[in-house]
Amino acid sequence: MTPTTGTTPVVRAQPKIVIVGAGIVGASIAYNLSLRDADVTVVDASTPGMAASHASYAWINAHPKPPRSYHDLNRRSMDVWSRWERHLGGDVGITWGGELRWTTTGDGASEMRDEVSLMQSWGYPVNLITPDQLAEMEPGLVTDPITAATYAPTEGHVDTAAVIARALTLVRERGAELLTGTAVKGLTVETQNGVGKVTGVETEEAHVPADIVVLAAGYSTRELAADVGLDFPQIESPGATLFTPPMPPIFKTVACVHTPRDLPDPQMNFRQMPDGRVQVHGGTHFGSVGDNSVEDAEWMLAELEKFVPAIAGASVDEWRRAMRPMPGDGLPIIGYPDSDGSHNGPSNVYFSVMHSGVSLSALVGEVATLEILDNARVDFLEDFRYDRFLGV
Ligand SMILES: Cc1cc2nc3c(=O)[nH]c(=O)nc-3n(C[C@H](O)[C@H](O)[C@H](O)COP(=O)(O)OP(=O)(O)OC[C@H]3O[C@@H](n4cnc5c(N)ncnc54)[C@H](O)[C@@H]3O)c2cc1C
Repeated sequence: MTPTTGTTPVVRAQPKIVIVGAGIVGASIAYNLSLRDADVTVVDASTPGMAASHASYAWINAHPKPPRSYHDLNRRSMDVWSRWERHLGGDVGITWGGELRWTTTGDGASEMRDEVSLMQSWGYPVNLITPDQLAEMEPGLVTDPITAATYAPTEGHVDTAAVIARALTLVRERGAELLTGTAVKGLTVETQNGVGKVTGVETEEAHVPADIVVLAAGYSTRELAADVGLDFPQIESPGATLFTPPMPPIFKTVACVHTPRDLPDPQMNFRQMPDGRVQVHGGTHFGSVGDNSVEDAEWMLAELEKFVPAIAGASVDEWRRAMRPMPGDGLPIIGYPDSDGSHNGPSNVYFSVMHSGVSLSALVGEVATLEILDNARVDFLEDFRYDRFLGV
């Protein structure tokens, strides 16, 4: 729609926007931009969604994710997820129902209580539950010995493949261009009066011109950005998750479970998809258990059986691996680099690289759209700007 002042229409030139990467973050930004009829081209090196979003455990949460501003960012995004699901207008495999976890030692219980106190002081819905309450909620879990347990009722998980496929279908229907199997080799930059400006991206086949380039290439964002003088530190964090074939329901109440963090590896998270597949992740953000072999996956599944006897006999149907996109301090980079010349790169590159990108994608698409199309500056993104890495 053309905005008006009084009776005179104000015609704004539409910037040409190229989004590099069609994982869940790129798909969300493309979707929100296309709602505003923006001129968008999405370029993906592969089939959309086959990198981190494919291997992701896809738990939607803010648990507890300090510092406070990062917790709040995730929290806001959790609240946006239902709206995005509604917008997508189809079944994208969201399962709400909350997260359950327990501890087995006195120290573990004490840490859990501290963590709950912190989250409750931030107003996050999570509470301690008794062993009897846990058994009532999930009679199929073996939890002995149990020293403490919590339930976070607002958390859930999603089918990333379904979200990305649906979002990109709508994006194309609204006229955006989607180039798949097309790797961006680099960004093209023009320097005028000492100031660099990105003019497009270079693929094997063509130059794709752009007024603004959105970097949503996950783990590969760093390389593309570094090439034009916008380097940042990145944590090397390989991730892996396994899937079983569809199984009868394993949960009565909750959506996902963490096995005790005070037991030795593999510390696991597991969830059941709407089609019955069980997905298991072992490890932490800073590295998954068993990155290397199918034997690792089979070992993890055997370990899970100790807590969930109902999965006895299940096999490893799929074993997915990907590098997590994780800037050096573990926090997202969202937005343009500052334009005060304190970095060596162009300023019309919009960063959107993050871990917890599944939790955050719903919100990031909305706020990135405001910053890209309206030149807004969203204040709650200030802790997540590129420039925090300058001079580090
Ligand atoms: C094992 C694991 C578990 C996780 N668990 C959770 C979780 O429970 N909750 C949560 O919120 N987050 C979780 N994450 C993190 C989350 O999955 C990621 O933050 C999120 O998927 C990132 O999405 P993205 O779109 O930025 O990147 P990606 O999904 O990695 O997509 C990047 C896209 O860019 C494309 N690309 C790359 N280079 C180029 C290029 N040169 N040219 C063109 N295209 C390119 C790729 O093909 C890919 O499609 C997990 C990640 C892993 C690996």
